Amino acid sequence: MDVSTIKNIWCIGRNYVAHAKELNNPIPASPLIFLKAGTCINPTKNITLPDWTSDIHHECELAVLIDKNGAPKSLALALDLTAREVQSQLKEKGSPWTLAKSFKGACPVSEFIPWTSMDDFQSLNFKFYKNDQRVQEGSPQDMLFSLPTLLNHLQKHYPLAENDLVLTGTPSGVGPIQKGDHLRGEIASGKGTLLLETTWVVN
Ligand code: ZN
Repeated sequence: MDVSTIKNIWCIGRNYVAHAKELNNPIPASPLIFLKAGTCINPTKNITLPDWTSDIHHECELAVLIDKNGAPKSLALALDLTAREVQSQLKEKGSPWTLAKSFKGACPVSEFIPWTSMDDFQSLNFKFYKNDQRVQEGSPQDMLFSLPTLLNHLQKHYPLAENDLVLTGTPSGVGPIQKGDHLRGEIASGKGTLLLETTWVVN
């Protein structure tokens, strides 16, 4: 997968109820969509923190790559890195979240694994570790809006294109990352087989 072909990064906010609650956000009645620039993609194992904030949070998410028909073609783990303090300030002002969500390097992404089926996807679970401590864990079964619903919604309203990436939302357990942190993510099948493992180092 050549990540330079990724065009748009469609992100789903508050798609896991426990995460919406941990940030004191209301539960959305329809999918909450925001964008990261396609050029936010970082396929390397190094995360460089911006120098204009000291409050970057990890949000580990299942990321689905879209084919020319708008269907999933492969799957990865992505980090929807978020400048949380900046986001809170922007939210208070009613301003767009762009700086908080779409800064340089704001979307580290793992290698991609082939798509198999919606049923397989539905039974996946993923875990995210910070310095060997598990901080996030989720499954599509816990999503407020399922992937088919999200894809329908995106196709109806937005110019979804081939090689767009859809970040399907983060479970609870988001928190800050700091220089020197070692991050690890994994995706397992419903039967517990490890399908993907990825690591990052924060610089
Ligand atoms: Zn997110």
